[in-house]
Amino acid sequence: MKIMDPRDEVIGFGPGDTVAVLTRQPVNRLLDYRIPEGGGQTGCFVEVPLGPRTVTGVIWGPGQGQFDRSKLRAIKRILDVPPMRAEMMQFLSRASEYTVSPLNSMVALATRVQGLGDLPKFRQVYVAGEGRPSRMTPARQRVLDIFRGQPDAEFSLGDLVDEARVSASVIKGLADQNCIIRAQRPWYEPFPTLDLERPGPELTAQQLQAAEHVKGLLRRGEHKACLLKGVTGSGKTAVYLDAVRACLKGGRQALVMLPEIALTEEFLNRVSERFGVTPAVWHSSVSSRERRRCWRMAAENRAQLVVGARSALFLPFADLGIIVVDEEHDSSFKQEEGVLYNARDMAVLRASICRAVALLVSATPSLESWANWKSGKYSGVNLPKRFGAATLPELRAIDLCQEGLDPGHWISPSLAEEVESSLKQGKQALLFLNRRGYAPVTICRACGHQIGCEQCDARLVLHQMRRLLMCHQCGETRAVPTVCTNCGAPDKLAAIGPGVERLAEEAFDRFPDARLTVFSSDLAQSGLDIQNRIREISDGKVDIVIGTQMVAKGHHFPLLRTVGVIDADLGLRGGDLRAAERTFQLIHQVSGRAGRDGTRGVSLVQTHQPGHPVIRAILSGDGEAFRRTEADLRKAAGAPPFGRFAAAILSGADLGPVNRVAQELARNAGILRKGKIELFGPAPAPIARVRGRYRVRFLAKSAKGIPIQEKLQQWRDSVKVPSGIRMQIDVDPQSFL
Ligand code: ADP
Ligand code: ZN
Repeated sequence: MKIMDPRDEVIGFGPGDTVAVLTRQPVNRLLDYRIPEGGGQTGCFVEVPLGPRTVTGVIWGPGQGQFDRSKLRAIKRILDVPPMRAEMMQFLSRASEYTVSPLNSMVALATRVQGLGDLPKFRQVYVAGEGRPSRMTPARQRVLDIFRGQPDAEFSLGDLVDEARVSASVIKGLADQNCIIRAQRPWYEPFPTLDLERPGPELTAQQLQAAEHVKGLLRRGEHKACLLKGVTGSGKTAVYLDAVRACLKGGRQALVMLPEIALTEEFLNRVSERFGVTPAVWHSSVSSRERRRCWRMAAENRAQLVVGARSALFLPFADLGIIVVDEEHDSSFKQEEGVLYNARDMAVLRASICRAVALLVSATPSLESWANWKSGKYSGVNLPKRFGAATLPELRAIDLCQEGLDPGHWISPSLAEEVESSLKQGKQALLFLNRRGYAPVTICRACGHQIGCEQCDARLVLHQMRRLLMCHQCGETRAVPTVCTNCGAPDKLAAIGPGVERLAEEAFDRFPDARLTVFSSDLAQSGLDIQNRIREISDGKVDIVIGTQMVAKGHHFPLLRTVGVIDADLGLRGGDLRAAERTFQLIHQVSGRAGRDGTRGVSLVQTHQPGHPVIRAILSGDGEAFRRTEADLRKAAGAPPFGRFAAAILSGADLGPVNRVAQELARNAGILRKGKIELFGPAPAPIARVRGRYRVRFLAKSAKGIPIQEKLQQWRDSVKVPSGIRMQIDVDPQSFL
């Protein structure tokens, strides 16, 4: 059902007027309410009665008159927060249409702060005190230790409870004895002002030209997206920070989106070096208190710069002038649960609505953005050379068919030699393998059984350091069995294939004197832990880094000389639409970590197929040639970005009903055909069961420029999906699993 389009101007309402309210609840229509004393306007956040409950919503427009006026209920309360701006309402509305997802779920994304209307004026914090507790307990000690480490710090009750793992009564007990002291702080503390006059690095001619281009777009108010392409280490960050500065100087706000939380800390250091203070941060590991502050300050134009994950795009900026999407090609900008949206594409949409510049930054742009640049839809600038004396690393293949590996080993002799020589020069090496855990498969040598997940169509991955088996689909873990779960044979279970942990074991054997560190998302304990370990690498306290894609992106490790890609063929096997593109991007990115300080780096790529076109393209380092070839292949296949894809995924606990709905949808394919959309499927998804739910997929395909959303919606509405079965529509899918 289509919900009324938001107006582009604010409409005021008097007491008693009827207005249409959109709530966060999964009721995908507007509900009429009466305006209370004091009046209101479109965009006001409100609390309204819905059945027996009170729910939060937004005044979307004038009432629709579908209810009897005498029975109409009144809005309970208009919340004391800045109303949603008309441009935000339009953005949510367009994003909902584009992604074929209910508007209320978009509103939920835009209000992801707890207790929106109840932000108190003051908040309580705890600071260090002088008292000694009458009796010391381990719990009390843990709390006091936190303050001992940071005597000037302030903590909320929640922070202390979480960090010291104690109950609130322990904190209270300590406060009663003045061992720690309660203090009040204003809630709405604005973020510190960035020092825009602080001198930055002197940009090179190439960088200046790029920065001037972006600043020109800002100055002229030209709100078209711009691709900032530049080799790793060319100074893209320096360039976009200069553009951010220009935007802030103009009094408007800036948003920088990063694909990984692991990159935030490093970037924040960059910002505070450049502008003297740390900006606002928004991602899932930020405390809910800081999130509320960030949300509120963004709305009041008292947060100049926000650094965040994809969900930061839904913050209520008062006057957003530039959105930077760093590593724009990264697939983690696509949200794969709940509302399926690509934050990069939605950033372009939001920028066009709020008259901002969307700046997409990458060394290896996505084919989508690249094609938009080539066709002139986006503007673009290129930084072809590394900054200063740094040169791009030398890239070499190691042919694993020629150079055999011993069974159970993955580091070839040539790679080992290169690592050895780096270590001798006092430099670092990075061994890259995009696989978490110790081994992807555990097999019984007696009966051949592979240990799988009971809930998913997936094998369990052995995580040796944490001593468990884990399903990478559902996260389920179990103890490592000593006998085969199938035949009961004792001591016959064997780990097959490598993960980063196993690679670390091998590296430890080979280079016993080197200091090793292993990086993967499951081994990091917290944001702080990641940050410390990244710093250890930059400071040269580590000789060999072993990691997944977590270390491949963005980081600046000045001492790193050698990169070893353990299995370049890994990503090419899946055969999905973007297998080649992703492999190219990932290996290019990880190789780009080498030689960033002036000594020439080297990246060795282990492969069984050195003649494979993608491997050859990686080795040649010619990204443009790669993208041209890949673009031709996609064009010929009518695949994105030259054609449009949308997926539909049905899932349910029993296969029978899922298949019945799928058959019915297949019979209604005519609805799509009328809109020049072809439908393929249904077919079992490549991962046919996840979390105990069977999954069946369709793929819809059309020419570019066909508006597919309305037809998809009609097609979806043409069947009644029984409760217990879920249907998701994924426009521009990234994952085909
Ligand atoms: P990219 O984002 O393209 O990988 P960075 O902006 O991180 O590149 O730059 C790479 C390195 O070069 C960083 O250490 C950065 O501080 C340095 N650098 C880049 N441009 C300049 C400049 N104009 N003056 C001084 N240092 C620079
Ligand atoms: Zn599972």
